[in-house]
Amino acid sequence: MTMTHDAHEAYPRYSPEQVLKDGCGECAQRSAQPALAISKMDPQTFVRAWARSVKFANDELPDVAAAEVPVLDILWAVRNQLPLAWAYISAEIDKERGR
Ligand SMILES: [Zn+2]
Repeated sequence: MTMTHDAHEAYPRYSPEQVLKDGCGECAQRSAQPALAISKMDPQTFVRAWARSVKFANDELPDVAAAEVPVLDILWAVRNQLPLAWAYISAEIDKERGR
């Protein structure tokens, strides 16, 4: 079943930068399944979410929506693992691509 987003602009803490908005049924559902929410993001939204996760972790995100916090937490956790694990992960990706 395809859900649609409620009118985001109607909510008091709305910010166009938020990747999921408070007060929207579809965003609430995606917030409850953050891995699914991330996999449904278009690349531009993913990059924005990535940048917001860094700001959120540094307590520099005044327009954060409660709905986007589970997504930001996952991205921040992955971001912290990447520098340590990147050599192994990139070798695995190369193997998948047959390089
Ligand atoms: Zn929404």
